Amino acid sequence: MKFVEIKNLVKTFGDTQVLKNIDISIEEGEFVTLLGPSGCGKSTLLRCLAGLNSIDGGTIYVAGKDITDTEPKDRGIGMVFQNYALFPNMTVWENIEFGLKIKKEKDYDERIKEMVKMVGLEGKEGYYPSELSGGQQQRVAFARALITKPKILLLDESLSALDAKIRKSLREKLREIQKKLKITTIFVTHDQEEALAISDRIFVLNKGEISQSGVPEAIYTNPENEFMVDFIGSYNIFRGEEVKKVLDLDEKMVAIRPESIYVREEGRNYIEDNFHNIEAKIIDRIIIGNVIRYTVEKNGVSFIVDMLNRGENKLYNINSQVELMFMKQEIKLY
Ligand code: ADP
Ligand code: MG
Repeated sequence: MKFVEIKNLVKTFGDTQVLKNIDISIEEGEFVTLLGPSGCGKSTLLRCLAGLNSIDGGTIYVAGKDITDTEPKDRGIGMVFQNYALFPNMTVWENIEFGLKIKKEKDYDERIKEMVKMVGLEGKEGYYPSELSGGQQQRVAFARALITKPKILLLDESLSALDAKIRKSLREKLREIQKKLKITTIFVTHDQEEALAISDRIFVLNKGEISQSGVPEAIYTNPENEFMVDFIGSYNIFRGEEVKKVLDLDEKMVAIRPESIYVREEGRNYIEDNFHNIEAKIIDRIIIGNVIRYTVEKNGVSFIVDMLNRGENKLYNINSQVELMFMKQEIKLY
């Protein structure tokens, strides 16, 4: 049995099944992400795990123990939300200390000092939440959740309220701390880039069901169904007539990643059997950092081609007629 086992979990609100027979198992020390659009049931699933929502079916095991009917405070679960939820009238130190006091622990000053250092808040122990930035407040919230050594850490959109740069640095910090403490973590986000960057494994939720699960690389390169390929967001998707017009194939729906298409360089040898070649016209070109992003068109259908922006790749002008190629295995059928 895995460290966390959620079996056949069902949750309904009124007549609506919000979670439909969810099965998830998680290894000890793993960092997994629940990813999905707003309203798909992510927060509800976390709340069910924490015991803050009742459930209508299924079983939850943590560390080999059935905790389905256990009181929230006895589940050994720490939770951090999007809105920090710090006590405004308590200092950083007192906020972190709070859980230890409740548990009537003693001689914990060294532990708090260590935790303050780990989250990078040295010197801020006496500050009140209102005197801190959003990123710093969220560090306090992490420290407050971690200090009681929970068996599982649940993070509900914990970085989503922060601006992009701080969000990125804090997620790296969070991952570093999580690895150091080897704490089993379930992170919730609607942001696929964040999920791909931070997770050991991802469970993608759609309308209360797991649409796909796997390591980030597999989620990104091998979306298994129509919802997934749409959700990942960066794929070129061709449907119906478009498939014939662009690829000359008789398929219902086809997807292909922009970075798996090359603008073909002349004078090179390619193993033709493995490649699909098409002609297209460049209709737009932008440079995004190290990527040259072409919008190309064939038979009235436009799509995206991403090339690495480096010396050996020629820069093609708008209105150029080019030959595109990609490996046949990169054409995903749905
Ligand atoms: P997410 O966190 O993925 O955005 P939620 O878990 O918050 O989604 O919500 C999933 C669905 O359950 C939504 O349709 C939401 O409206 C519904 N829902 C959540 N909480 C309640 C509640 N307390 N009462 C009724 N419906 C709820
Ligand atoms: Mg939510």
